[in-house]
Amino acid sequence: MLDRTLSRRDWLATALAGGAACLSPRLMAAAPSDKARIAITLDLEMSAEYPVAGMTEWNFQKGNLDQATKDYAVEAGKLVRERGAVLHYFCVARVLEQPDVSWLQELAKAGHPIGNHTYDHVYVLAQTPEEVQFRFRRSPWLTAGETPAETIERNIRLAAIALKERAGIVENGFRTPGGFATGLNGRPDVQQMLQGLGYTWVSSLYPPTTMPERGMAPTEATWQSLYEALPRAQPFVYPTGLVEVPMSPISDVNAFRSSKWKLDWFLEAIERAVTWAIEHRAVFDFLAHPSCLVVEDPEFRSIRKILDLVERAGDKAEIVGLDRIAAPFIKSNA
Ligand SMILES: [Zn+2]
Repeated sequence: MLDRTLSRRDWLATALAGGAACLSPRLMAAAPSDKARIAITLDLEMSAEYPVAGMTEWNFQKGNLDQATKDYAVEAGKLVRERGAVLHYFCVARVLEQPDVSWLQELAKAGHPIGNHTYDHVYVLAQTPEEVQFRFRRSPWLTAGETPAETIERNIRLAAIALKERAGIVENGFRTPGGFATGLNGRPDVQQMLQGLGYTWVSSLYPPTTMPERGMAPTEATWQSLYEALPRAQPFVYPTGLVEVPMSPISDVNAFRSSKWKLDWFLEAIERAVTWAIEHRAVFDFLAHPSCLVVEDPEFRSIRKILDLVERAGDKAEIVGLDRIAAPFIKSNA
């Protein structure tokens, strides 16, 4: 077994070889921890092309979750809780306009962290009103008189208010709709806007991988690309002090919707990525959507796979919420 020093050197070598762009001194001081930190996260929204191909109206109603999606989210929460862990949800808060929100309240009561994923799934890097969200392109009067930045900030604020007032849930963190290859680098305005709203960390970075042609099985090159991307999905601190907790490749929509993967290929990607994280005592932030998994993985094999791998790793790994991953990087203002 590697001792901590070796393991740490090994980790840094891998991170550097992978081209980690953001290895700040703080990151080097804080990583890796004694244990790999594995997060299971579900974004609560509807995904275009699900449950049937051609279904794109969800782009205008991202928060209008159907029953199957909500049931999958609830079942996943139970499964994870039974194994003594938590699942970090990110909620598109327009779902709180629905007549029944008890399913979400139950998840919060069970101890699962629930974060903000905006009210309408807005694109936080938008520079023009058209880019903000499909809903506002169709119904521009909803944001009349606002700059894109104002619309975005109000949309995030609204989600927090809805979670609190309708469901009594205190939000736990913020994840940007869409993952960005470079996160919020180069956008101190967005970082500061989030800090102004009280966030200490954000989950916005998703390092892309080279995927095989649609419908084709992953190759050695695919796995190589995955191993190069995983070190780039490690937490770091932006110059503003905001902490980034990236999403780890490969996401469910990336695998199933964009690349037409079979479930077994996706499970292999999970096994490789989680095993890598455990070996390097690094972070793996599983990103999925119940609206997609309910169709592609109805038996929860992806989530079970992660739970099994972490359980088998014993004291080398733990499942935590993103807030726990971010915590050691957050500079106290005291
Ligand atoms: Zn989303």
